[in-house]
Amino acid sequence: MKSDFYFIILLISCILMVTCQSQAQGNDAFQKRGSIAETFQPLPFFEVVPLGWIKQQMQDNLKGFTGHLDSLVPDLILHDDIYGKDRLSRHTKSKDVGAITENGELQAQFLWWNSETQSNWRDGYIRSAILTMDQAHIAKAKQYILKMISTQDSDGYLGIYDKDLRYKFDNENGELWAKTTLLRGMLAWYYFTRDFAILKAIESAVSNVMVNYPAYKSHPFHSVNPDAGGLTHGLAFTDILQELWRINGKNEYRDYCLFLYKDFSEEVLNEDAQFMKLMDTTLPLKGHGVHTYEHLRSLAAAYYTSANPGLKAALKNFLVKIAPETAASGGPAGDEWIAGRKADATGRGYEYCSIHELLNSYTDLLAKTGDADFGELTEKMFFNAAQGSRNPFESSIAYLKTDNSYSMCGGLNGDTTVKTQTRYKYSPAHQDVAACCVPNAGRIAPYYVQSMWMKDSKALIATLLGPCEVETSIMGKRVNIEEQTAYPYDYKVTFIVTTHETEFDLKIRRPSWATKIIVSVEYKEDKGYISIHKRWKGEESVSIQFFPEAAVRQDINGEYFYTYGPLVLARPLQSIGIQTKTYPLKEFRDMHYRPLTMSVLEYANEGVKQTKPDRLEFSTALYNPVSKKNEPAILIPMGQTILRQVTFKPKSEDK
Ligand SMILES: [Zn+2]
Repeated sequence: MKSDFYFIILLISCILMVTCQSQAQGNDAFQKRGSIAETFQPLPFFEVVPLGWIKQQMQDNLKGFTGHLDSLVPDLILHDDIYGKDRLSRHTKSKDVGAITENGELQAQFLWWNSETQSNWRDGYIRSAILTMDQAHIAKAKQYILKMISTQDSDGYLGIYDKDLRYKFDNENGELWAKTTLLRGMLAWYYFTRDFAILKAIESAVSNVMVNYPAYKSHPFHSVNPDAGGLTHGLAFTDILQELWRINGKNEYRDYCLFLYKDFSEEVLNEDAQFMKLMDTTLPLKGHGVHTYEHLRSLAAAYYTSANPGLKAALKNFLVKIAPETAASGGPAGDEWIAGRKADATGRGYEYCSIHELLNSYTDLLAKTGDADFGELTEKMFFNAAQGSRNPFESSIAYLKTDNSYSMCGGLNGDTTVKTQTRYKYSPAHQDVAACCVPNAGRIAPYYVQSMWMKDSKALIATLLGPCEVETSIMGKRVNIEEQTAYPYDYKVTFIVTTHETEFDLKIRRPSWATKIIVSVEYKEDKGYISIHKRWKGEESVSIQFFPEAAVRQDINGEYFYTYGPLVLARPLQSIGIQTKTYPLKEFRDMHYRPLTMSVLEYANEGVKQTKPDRLEFSTALYNPVSKKNEPAILIPMGQTILRQVTFKPKSEDK
């Protein structure tokens, strides 16, 4: 008895000690120790505009799902004035949010859904309209912005709840998330028009939050139910706060990021990004993928606000945990849940929303750290996972996709056991699950473009490569640079620099895959950047030729895959397309794709070579485990494929 008693006391003491230590460590982590400046300054939206294929893709989106989503899912967008006359109140019973639920009933907790659908869609729509200077769409975007501003109450409230509900929650709600998604689009409109009335409306909406959820005196993330998706999406409100801080330099916005992350971390919520969970390095990521990947930048915002080493450690751990969740293409696992399982080229889907949100977090970290690796990760995701989840032949996307994609008929690679699984198909809406991914598929290119250039006090930096034009000021002087290239489908990049007369560094991120580079002027290399220092005058040009090589790499599971420069290659598989749904708008439809013939080949340790110069087509030999022979195979960029094999297991005989 005695020994048991002492054992229990010892155990409790240990638990208490651990708890106290954890609390001390936890509380201490949110103490402000200073603040950290961002290494690079992100450029405001609209200072970088797309050219070439990226502009073409945005124009195609405007002709396709981005330009027509309101007509494709009118009940979710046109028939629900959720920020205006249809604001949610205690009397709201139910509304169509476009999802199939198990028991056929709609649950109150999902009632914020249409705000996300509408505002994420509008954000991509507004940005695409502006970046392509499409006057008809810009006029429509203006009408929408004016309408949203007209819904703002005199106290600044902009959101989806009537007075009886707003800021009074102890459970799932979309208060902060509905504002986050709306205000992102409004910020884009402000940057385009520089209309201070818009900025004032945004600031007033944010101060209404800060008054009603006072810092350290309220608990915006409190929920009696730990599964509260709309509530925890709301941590992304830090995006708005950071942007306002960048505009007007007021530290109160940045400080509020720290408060939000602290409250989010201290509530009982099933979320991976909570501080104490991140500090447990044995705990894998389990949560809803898109939350986890967007929360990465909220933690980064809290760390840069506080300069606290505890948050620095959490951020480092977070990145370590994300690494095994990413596939060869950069696609981050989560179908919809990460569920503690690693990425797998065949067995784990990734969601379009997650691709967009992790990309957005990587570009934020690229600005904060200046670390060229985040540029490489961003390019990998955009050129491979994101392009590879679009239908290359018509305007539709996959909600869930895998690197190895052998069937796109609803279930994961032909699985039919879960009847409600319809995400593995191509649709311009995906209304049967949720219209979340299509709006984000319209956002990703504009967000990529915005981060293609950044600056610091004496340099203008091409952080992500591709065809675009930047116009900004450096050292107080206007500079315009046109980046002429078809990158990543061509590896020569010409920068046409135009300025009156200015001395500054032109920096260009040097892709790590380039085995050789030729630069047309004198340059230096430092920490992953090519740097050209000179006094620029009038119009001058700099050309860089990057030399890629076809390479064989291994994914986290030891499967082999091929790359060429920034592109991941795939063995395309012939498929039969089956139309499964039509829309009143004739040019749109949902599609299933079945394989025409099916063979899964293995790595044969054979070389790979380009079939013709200037053609992105490669040949190799792969092992067929059925015929037990090597057979020739053609590889093309995975972004051009529907059904495909990207990774190849080691030859079965070698195992
Ligand atoms: Zn989604």
